[in-house]
This record gives sequence, C-alpha cells and structure tokens, in this order.
Amino acid sequence: MRRIGITGGIGSGKSIVARLFAALGVPVYDSDSRAKGIMATDLGLREQLLAAFGAETYTPEGLLNRTHLAQRVFGDAAQVALLNSLVHPRVGADFEAWVATQAAAGQPYILKEAALLYESGAYRQLDRIITVFAPPAVRHARVLHRDAHRSAADVEAIMRQQLSDEEKLARADYVVYNDDSQLVLPQVLALDETFRQG
Ligand code: ADP
Repeated sequence: MRRIGITGGIGSGKSIVARLFAALGVPVYDSDSRAKGIMATDLGLREQLLAAFGAETYTPEGLLNRTHLAQRVFGDAAQVALLNSLVHPRVGADFEAWVATQAAAGQPYILKEAALLYESGAYRQLDRIITVFAPPAVRHARVLHRDAHRSAADVEAIMRQQLSDEEKLARADYVVYNDDSQLVLPQVLALDETFRQG
C-alpha cells in the first residue's frame, strides 16, 4: 500500500485538496487533528508537556491550552524543537498503527496531510509527496479570509517559519496547482489514477 504525503504552505489549499481525495474514497490521515487528539489523551505526553511548558499547558478541566502553548513556543526555535521532539514521535507511531489498519482493509493507497511534512521528518514515513502550490500573496489573502483570529502579522510570521515554496516544490514528487492557473479536480483525478495503478 502506497503512502502519499500531501503538504503545502498555510493557505495553499492542502485541506481542500485532501478532501477531494477523501471524496474519492481515499483514507486521509490529518496530522494536525490527530496531534491535537494525542496531546489531549496520551497521559505520558501530558506529563512531559506539563514538565516542559508549565501547569497552564492544560486547563483545570484537563483540556489542552493551545493558546498558552502557542505563546510559550512561538518565535523560539529551541522551544518549538522541544515541543516537536515530544509530539512528533507519538504522531509517527499513531500514523503507523493507522496505516496498518488501512492496509489490512485492502486500501490501494493512503494520504497523510501535514503542514510540516518536511520540517517534522514525517516525509521519511512516506513513499511520495504532493505539494499544493499557490503564491504567497494568494495564501495570505485566503488565510485572513478563513481565520478571523489571525492578523496579517500572524500570517506572515507563520509563513516565515515554514519551508519556502521553492524548496517544497523542488522536493515534491507531484505538484497540485491551486493558484487559479488550472482546475484542481482534474489534477486530483489524474493523481488518483496514478496511485491506484501502484
Ligand atoms: P491549508 O489547509 O493549506 O491551510 P485550506 O485548504 O484550508 O488551506 O484553504 C485555505 C482557505 O482558502 C480556505 O478558506 C479555502 O476555502 C480557501 N481556498 C482554497 N483553495 C481555494 C481556491 N482555489 N479558490 C478560492 N479559495 C480557496
């Protein structure tokens, strides 16, 4: 069973493209939402996050306090690296268990969606990578439209922390252009055909 990664800068449209694959019946592993679930339920991880980032990392009700965590790590490369070193191995293990279930179900291929596929090292668990491309100005406008809680400066800061488009494109096996230069659905259908053929 082939493992395909799908990535792209914030606002590139990778979630939308992943949803198109899902609509074709492809199992999609959403790394961000799985990571949130793992941070909420994995007790060992909870202990480590509390030790590293303080008691406020979880609310009195036991829920992950994402705002606190974001404030603690944002703009601090060492803190980001620490957070990633705690969370990414768990997501990697969860992904392997999920892959085994999909393989047992006879799926021809699966998709793993992640904003930081290269940065996290997750690409090593994948056979092929799709990068969804849209120019920075378009992504910036889309994110401001989508995320009411983010300012223009927030979006710029996030974009600066991600790998550049040039590097993502250079490393990608396939590119889906979501920059209004061409239709997205035919690109997805063509890739689906390729992956099903093995
Ligand atoms: P990502 O997951 O890469 O951050 P999303 O898939 O959430 O990106 O897309 C970002 C925002 O842009 C969403 O609100 C989405 O509806 C919108 N969007 C994505 N692709 C297009 C497009 N081709 N035309 C217009 N809006 C789009």
